[in-house]
Amino acid sequence: MCQSGDATVFFAPDSERIREREKREALAKRVCEECPVRQQCLEHALALPEQFGIWGGLTEMERAEEARRRRGAATTGRAPVVVPIRIGSQRDRGFADAQAAREGTEVAA
Ligand code: SF4
Repeated sequence: MCQSGDATVFFAPDSERIREREKREALAKRVCEECPVRQQCLEHALALPEQFGIWGGLTEMERAEEARRRRGAATTGRAPVVVPIRIGSQRDRGFADAQAAREGTEVAA
């Protein structure tokens, strides 16, 4: 979907202010939420890894966190709890964390 619209919203311009970045990222994430290939896009970005921009609805920092979480799950040998990502939803993340705590596992996505 990003390829049919304004792709600049997915990448930070030079010297972007925090408020501008927050608005731009929120807009990009709304596009990603509706994207039919969001999960594949995210997996691609994590596999390369893509260094910049929003991919699969996650920012660079969010993808780095996701990669760390997955590596952690791999080293513990426990299967990660995979939950659908609802972008920006703290409530869903809370459910996933609670489920992982009950099962003694970690949240992967
Ligand atoms: S999920 Fe990926 S392909 Fe889809 S709109 Fe977002 S960045 Fe573009």
